[in-house]
Amino acid sequence: MVQLPKVNELGFFEIRLESIGGLGANLAGKMIAEAGVMGAGLNGVSFSSYGSEKKGSAVKAHIRFCDIDARIRDTSPVERPHVIGIFHENLSKTTNVISGMYEDSIVLVNSKKSTDQLKEQLKLKGGIIAVVDATGISMEENNRVNMAMLGGLFRLCGFLDPEFMKGVIHKSLAKKYPGAVQPALNTFQRGYDEVTFHTFELEEGDRMPDYVRMDTPVLGYETQPIGGTITNPGNSILKDLSISRAGRMPHFDDDKCIHCAACDNVCPDFCFVWEELPDKKGRPQMFLQGIDYQYCKGCLKCVQACPTDALASELEEDGYAEGHRVAHRFNLAL
Ligand code: SF4
Ligand code: SF4
Repeated sequence: MVQLPKVNELGFFEIRLESIGGLGANLAGKMIAEAGVMGAGLNGVSFSSYGSEKKGSAVKAHIRFCDIDARIRDTSPVERPHVIGIFHENLSKTTNVISGMYEDSIVLVNSKKSTDQLKEQLKLKGGIIAVVDATGISMEENNRVNMAMLGGLFRLCGFLDPEFMKGVIHKSLAKKYPGAVQPALNTFQRGYDEVTFHTFELEEGDRMPDYVRMDTPVLGYETQPIGGTITNPGNSILKDLSISRAGRMPHFDDDKCIHCAACDNVCPDFCFVWEELPDKKGRPQMFLQGIDYQYCKGCLKCVQACPTDALASELEEDGYAEGHRVAHRFNLAL
């Protein structure tokens, strides 16, 4: 039986995966647990928590390992992880993805950014950042993000055997999808090989953020809002769907557009921005101005619908959406 590198006061080594529906974090969590229990002889448990079961909504997967003789009586969410896997870096816009980490926890991020940029983005004070471009690898290998992340997570968890995992991948795909075995193995291996690490020491006088339990109520006796007022109304104007994009996004080429509105007819999220302008004969006509990427979840239905190649599916580059966004103009006074 292998030795866990560190454990908490209850004897657990804990992993939390932060993801969105559709990237396969739930399955990755189960596969990690299987490798720990069946391959490394540990006792372990894995489960997930999510809201509505749809592509793009936030998902967390939780994995706990302990000595084979220890009993697992804790099935609460992992709040103080030794390892965190962030499947989509933009989750940090809306979620405290590094919540509860220790000074020596490792955070694996699916990203093309440098560790310094990620430290800034995650507001990390100390700890180890590991980076792997899981989206890029999965696109190149024609496979899934979770396989590349799984490879990276195995590299961080040295007590798990990557060869055992390869056997599981082979066994689970070989019968039904034999053509998918090699791409999955390649993606896993590249995730394992291509992770880079950087350790950030706490600066003198600095300390890790105070740990706040996830279920601590935000509102209490002293912080409750004034009754009868809605301070943060839920509406689609404030909604930011950019975290739902899983690697690809539509690019708009104005020169090829015939303003037929086929894209707008299939878009589920109010992304296309139009303006009434005179046509060649001076008659008023609606012209497509571009895409409001704040609402685009990257489903790419518009690309399929476009008859002229004015819309193309491209890998999402950092900053492209902000730089090319054509914002809707809402009359908020109404
Ligand atoms: S990919 Fe296209 S159809 Fe899908 S949400 Fe974005 S703009 Fe709309
Ligand atoms: S479907 Fe294509 S051509 Fe038609 S309006 Fe949309 S972008 Fe333009």
